Amino acid sequence: MSGRYTLFTINISRLREDFFDLSQIGKVGESGVNRPAFSIAHLEARSWFRKRIEQAGLEFRQDEAGNTSGFLRCGPPGAPTLLLGSHLDSVPTGGRFDGALGVLAGLEALRRIHEESLTLPFHLEVIDFSDEEGSLVNFFGSFALVGLLEPEHLENPRGGRDKLSEGLQRAGLNPEAVLDARRDPASLAGYLELHIEQGSQLITAGMKVGVVSSITGLSFYRLIFLGRADHAGTAPVQTRKDAGVGASYFNVSLRELIVERYPDCVANVGIANFEPGAFNIVPEKAVLSLEFRSAELSRFQSLKSEVLKLAEDAAARFGLRLVVEFLGEKEPLVMNQKMQGVVEKAAEVLGLPAAEIVSRAGHDAQAMAAFCPTGMIFVPSEGGISHSPNEFTQWEDCVNGANVMLNSVLLLAENS
Ligand SMILES: [Zn+2]
Repeated sequence: MSGRYTLFTINISRLREDFFDLSQIGKVGESGVNRPAFSIAHLEARSWFRKRIEQAGLEFRQDEAGNTSGFLRCGPPGAPTLLLGSHLDSVPTGGRFDGALGVLAGLEALRRIHEESLTLPFHLEVIDFSDEEGSLVNFFGSFALVGLLEPEHLENPRGGRDKLSEGLQRAGLNPEAVLDARRDPASLAGYLELHIEQGSQLITAGMKVGVVSSITGLSFYRLIFLGRADHAGTAPVQTRKDAGVGASYFNVSLRELIVERYPDCVANVGIANFEPGAFNIVPEKAVLSLEFRSAELSRFQSLKSEVLKLAEDAAARFGLRLVVEFLGEKEPLVMNQKMQGVVEKAAEVLGLPAAEIVSRAGHDAQAMAAFCPTGMIFVPSEGGISHSPNEFTQWEDCVNGANVMLNSVLLLAENS
């Protein structure tokens, strides 16, 4: 890299005004937002975004999946487009930073480059992906854009079919046309996303910027332990086939497995239901929800086989039958090396301590990574809290993140 790189910085007061304006839309309590995909509040946030795009002299666009974007023609004719963005939707009682920060930082980067009349080797587009949080369909917008959205995702959406059609109607989208949002990978120069970390690795390490190296893979299962119902008073404990005990034993063993041999991974049993479900009946059926995550493919695969073996062993130990239902999976994804390099360099020229970091949460970047060169920038989350109104990132860190985004774009342009 030449030593002649010119540092640019964002307009802090403009970003601040945007951030506070946007956090009023769908506001809950003092500091939360409630903007599930295609809700009235979410659509209001999108109209606000459109106004800002137009005020900035950018071209407003919306695709068949509702992905909303601002386009800046700053490259030569026929050049590919570098996408910057995140999402304006939230979980039902989410925080102000998750998603919103990335969209606003992308908008600010486009405005600064437009103001400076810079010519780059690519065009720029700031995008707000539809339903990142998966209230209706998981990664609805980014999956549609990369062609991973299937008709069955729309027929059996996780938010329910009625809610999906209501939402699409409210947003003025045609359900028949959603899959047409697919783009040609050759039309994209890449995708860059700024996001809050939603964990506490950066603060623990005393770092200001996270250069995301990979995004965790995750698997979902339903485990059903089947035993025999018995009288809780008369059946001796030693001879029972207690599905509840087998399921509980599995859950404790799972924790031990992770702590002792997979400290780089996580697993969670978030739902447990015993049937028939009475004080005085030994459970004949126990149903567990299981998810586990790993950022590294070989670890992900070996964890998967060990976890399933653990469930079989727990069932066998208590004389139970085990039914394993596979509910879905996303493999871990590595971020593009060149993108990681420009993010690292941008942090360096800004004098910000940066570290490589694994994303333990899912993001639209996960959909994009297999489609075009993708990178992610993380900034610290106080207390690692997210998906909560208590989610908080210091304003200085938001500004740092936006500056890293802007300079990553310019460094990428220099190196293209
Ligand atoms: Zn997010």
